[in-house]
Formats: sequence, structure tokens, C-alpha cells
Amino acid sequence: MRVTEPGIDNELAEKIALKIYQQTDKNTEQVSVEGIQDSIEKDLMMSSRKDVAKEFIKYRQKRTEERLKQSELFKIGEGIISGENEEVTKENANLNGESFSGKMNRFGSEYSKMYARNVILPKRLVKAIDEGYVYVHDLDHYAVGTHNCLFIPFEKLLANGFYVSDKGSVRTPNSIMTAMAQVAIIFQCQQNSQFGGCGAAKFDWDLAPYVTKSFRKHFRKGQMYFGETYADVKDSELYIDNNCLLQAFPKSYTYAREETEIETKQAAESMIHNLNTMASRAGGQVPFTSITFGLCTSTEGRMVSNAILEASMKGLGHSETAIFPQLIFQCKQGINQSEKEPNYDLFLKAIECSSKRLFPNFVNVDADFNLQYYDPADSDTAIATMGCRTRVISNRFGKAYQSGRGNISFNSINLTKLGIEYGIVNGRTEPDIDEFWDKLDEVLDITLDGLLHRYDIQGNQPAKASDFMMQNGSWIDGEKLKPNQKVKDLLKMGSISIGFVGLAECLKALFGKHHGEDEDVWDFGKGLIQYIRSYCDRKSDEYDMNITCFATPAESLAGNFAKVLQKQYGKIEGVTNRDYLTNSFHIPVYYDIAAYKKIDLEAPFHKLTNAGHISYVELDGNARNNQEAFKRIVQYALSKNMGYFSINHPVDKCMTCNFDGVINNDCPLCGEDNENNISRIRRVTGYLVGNLNRFNAAKRAEEQDRVRHT
Ligand SMILES: [Zn+2]
Repeated sequence: MRVTEPGIDNELAEKIALKIYQQTDKNTEQVSVEGIQDSIEKDLMMSSRKDVAKEFIKYRQKRTEERLKQSELFKIGEGIISGENEEVTKENANLNGESFSGKMNRFGSEYSKMYARNVILPKRLVKAIDEGYVYVHDLDHYAVGTHNCLFIPFEKLLANGFYVSDKGSVRTPNSIMTAMAQVAIIFQCQQNSQFGGCGAAKFDWDLAPYVTKSFRKHFRKGQMYFGETYADVKDSELYIDNNCLLQAFPKSYTYAREETEIETKQAAESMIHNLNTMASRAGGQVPFTSITFGLCTSTEGRMVSNAILEASMKGLGHSETAIFPQLIFQCKQGINQSEKEPNYDLFLKAIECSSKRLFPNFVNVDADFNLQYYDPADSDTAIATMGCRTRVISNRFGKAYQSGRGNISFNSINLTKLGIEYGIVNGRTEPDIDEFWDKLDEVLDITLDGLLHRYDIQGNQPAKASDFMMQNGSWIDGEKLKPNQKVKDLLKMGSISIGFVGLAECLKALFGKHHGEDEDVWDFGKGLIQYIRSYCDRKSDEYDMNITCFATPAESLAGNFAKVLQKQYGKIEGVTNRDYLTNSFHIPVYYDIAAYKKIDLEAPFHKLTNAGHISYVELDGNARNNQEAFKRIVQYALSKNMGYFSINHPVDKCMTCNFDGVINNDCPLCGEDNENNISRIRRVTGYLVGNLNRFNAAKRAEEQDRVRHT
């Protein structure tokens, strides 16, 4: 104890102590340490011993600082500032956690997570999270009630114009150039109303009318310049596929068509530049955007598709591969799958683009679980997907459609944990399958309860909280709500989903083999995912909600679960010995298997995972030189009833000499060996990531283990 110069005054000390004792004795409520210290401080200040009061205040401050330093929040803060806590700064591969705004974002996000965990989440869910059974995605948005993702109804927003909160309104565009500029703005504004990605489900159809508008504009100009004003022609007759125009006004038509094509290409290029550079999202991120296209066969629609593909192949300013928008090409027999079909040339171009730039991915309209919704008269019923693989189409509340709907939120189950608990790795001679199913039931219930609890928070938000989205009706019927009205009834049009991670390690833990190694094990694995799907279907009826089964895109999750399991069980060969768990139902990336075989084994899981799925095969750097082989693999995947497919291959670029190809340690052209001057594009969870350096440890480990499929 420190003593001030005038010495100890026992009498005063006892007097203050007694007073506080009497106060707290009377008070039925609990008294905090801070409350007691406030009283002591006040009494000392009132006494003759101001010297002791001053010392006491100093002492208090020091203790508070000490306590704060021990707190979780303080440690996280330190990690953010120093940039030393990799798990915090690199949690999201698309965010620069070392930038100022990235750090600000991490601060908000970490506090918000802590608040949700300690104050909001059901206790049973917190326990399941801590034990490593369940993961709640985007926990930082839980307390405020943000929803996940959305297909933006561009057709509607472009036709009606839109408001940007109270700042002003935007008119419907009169050219494809302006329309694509507005697309970028809409993406940017919409992004702030949600935490996941935003997509366009039928971009070629939505933008085609503005190509027509540009054509009209150029045609009228042509008529004047070329003196072809001898006959009247109505606006409604001015579209590219109107053959009479060419005969009656040959010069104006040819001129207008050429100008329109050039304008469309420029518009697409400028849109792609915008979408990769407007770092408007919190933390200096660009919006997570995806564009699905490929089925529109009008000349205008085809011009849109063609322009996007060409602009993507061209790349950005220094021909870098564009990370956004994620492109998704819709494959449909009769439209673009064989010679003589009207959009086959676009499919070939999509193959070429994907072999150079990793995009587009390929979504299969012909897969039976997609075809059941397809109505050729309604382009919004042809399956699309979000960049991260989310799929929202079936609808309990009416016809299936996509634009204006999205996923509300999802939680994921750690299948590997269940496998370890009841499998042979735990010293058993036989796995305890009965106990396994019982525990799975329990975990499914906790997971769904969590989603319903979150939905309640999300649904109770007023429309004004997601102002752009509701005001403009980018969420279906949002414009009909008043600012203070709750969004619950509308949000119901979206889906909530139960995802899963680590099927491969689960099976390995249960039986000693994963589903790539043994047919019976594969059967069990399929049965397991079927079980989760049936649970979702059953609960959809019970709660009258769109509840779906998700092959989770596990970005930071794969590493997070692996770490928890290593802590609990140590490193178990083939189960927890890597720094990540295998994504969803995938055959492990390190397992040597032929591309066709991998497709055969993974395809049946696509049908079960109605909230979304993707399969990849890995090719080496020669993929770009063999488009025929590339196409064969894509069409093989489509023929196997896969829903969504993509081919990974290394896309490296030397920033010193612009060499574009495979760079191992040094650039084959100029010898550059400084890793900072080499850009390596890789895919994580469906999206591309511009730089391997942004990967956290788990993602780097997973990338290094990827074996090429032959
Ligand atoms: Zn070079």
C-alpha cells in the first residue's frame, strides 16, 4: 500500500468503509466495483485528505488500464493496429486489412461480433460454436440484422430509374453506355444494404433494350448524315433484327449497327473497370458482383454477352485479370451447346475467356433440378447463381424466379467434428453410426434455431435500414413499404440455408477412407447429405419458409474449424493434419484423381444442395492453350447433371514485363523473382482473389495442396 506524506488516517478509512457497507446493505441491486470506487473517490474528495483522493484516482486509472489490457477486445485492437494478427487482418481475402479503412472495418466488425456473441445469440448456439459444431457466417452483421445476398432486378431499376437515398434520383438511361454506368452505380448502392454478394440473374436480357436505344440514336444520326430521310420510320421499328431497315436505309443501318457494337464494347469495358475500382464497400472493398448471361439470342442481347466476354479477356488497365464481376455463363441445349445453335459462338468465347481469365464459370440450365423451373417465356426462370455459388430459385410463395430475391443467411455444420466423435479414429473398431445420427439431429436443430432467431432480428428491421434496397424495390416489392415498416413479410421470399463443411474428413474419421477412395463410403456420404437436405425440406413445411441445403463456400471457415479440431483432438492423419477442412462435399484437393472421375463423384451432390454448389477441377498452366480439352471437360460436367462448374488453373502475371502465363519462382521472360512484382490470381470460394499474399494461412495451405487433375 502506498502512503502519502501526511500518513495513514485509520479513522477516515473506517468511516468511509462503514458508509459504503451501509449503502450497499440497503441496496437490493448488485453494486459494481466501479460504483464502490465512485463512492470512495467522492468521500475522499469531500474529506480533508485531498492528497489521498488524488492517489486513489491514479490507482484506479491504472487498475482499469490493466483490466482493459487483459480483455479480448483490447488484444484484438492491438492485433489490428500492428497488423500482426493474421486471422483478423486476413479474414477476408478481398479486404486489405493493413489499409486504414481496412483497420477501421476490422475494429467495427470485431466489436460487433463480440457483442452478438455475448448479448444476442441463443446460449445453446454459442456453446455449439465454441465446441466447434456450428459456424455462424458474417456474425458481425448478426446484431444489426443485415441480410446476405440478392439478385438485383436490373430490368426494373433501369426502366423505372432509381433513388439514391435522399441524395437524388436517376432517370432511365437512353443508351447502353449510360445503362452500364448505372449498373455499376446500382451494384455499389445495393451493396451497402447487405453483407454478401449482389448479382444479375439475366444480364443480357436486362441490358438488351439499351443496346436498342443506342442503335436508334445512331440510326437517326446516320439518316441525317447519309441523306436517308426519304421515308418515315417509327421508333418501334428501329431495332437491329428488323431486316427491312437494311434494305430501305442501307447506309444508316450499317453505320448504326457498327457504332452500336463499338459503344456496347466500350460500355462493358468501362463497367468492368468501375466494378474493380470503386472501393466503396466498408474496408476499401469493391462490391461483390456477379453477372449471369448467355441465353438471350437477339442481336442486342448477344452484343451484350459478347462485349462482356471481350472486355474480360482484354483485362484491366495493364491487362490484369479482372476480379469482378464474377461471370457465369448459362449453358442450355438448343441455345448454345452445339454447332448451329444460335449462341454456340458465345459458348466457345466463354470457354476461351475462362481458359485465359478463370471466368466465366458455367451454370447448367439443363440439369434436371434446374430445368424443372425453366420457362422459355420467362428469362428469370433460367438458373443463375451468385459469385459465391448461392442459388435461390424455388419458392413456397408462388412461381419460381430469381431477380428481387436472395439468401437471407446461412449457418454451417462441421461434419468432421461429428465424424471424429463417432468414428474409428477415436479408438473404436466400428463407427458408432446410431450415435452419429442422433448427434447430427441435435446439431441440425441448433443450427436451424440459430437461423430462425437471426431471421427474427432481420425481419424486424425497418425498411429504412436497407434504404436503397427497399426504396427502389431491388428486393421484391420493397418499394411498397413505408420507411418504418418492418421487412419480415418480404424477407420471407428469400431463403435461409444450412450449410456443411468437411464431408471428406468426416468420412475419413468415421471409416478410415473418404468418398473418393471407396464406393461404400461414397454411398454413406451421399446418404448423409441427402439426410440434411430432407431435414431442410421437412422444416420448410413446418415453418413455411424457404429452407435450403448449402454446399458452403468456406473461406475463413475451413481454417477456423480445422484449428478448433486440432486443439481438441491433435493432428489426426487425413482428418485434422492440415490447416483447413475440405470444402462442402468436395473430394480433397490433395487427392490424386482424374478430372472425369472427380466430376462423376461430385455431380450427384449438386442435386442435393439446393442452396448452391460448385465443383472444380484443377488443370495445369497449359489449360489456356488447349481450349478443345477445356470445352470437353465443361461439357462432360454438364452431361453429368452438375449444376455449376468451373476449371481452376494458374493465372500468373509478371508486373515488370507484363508476361502472362505460369510463373513458378521467376518470370520466364525477364527473370523477375520478387514475389511482390508477380500477381497470382486464384479462386477462393467461387470469387477470384487478386493476390496470393492476401490469403490467410489456411487458404495458402489449401492452395499449395491442390493437385492437378488429368
Ligand atoms: Zn517478367
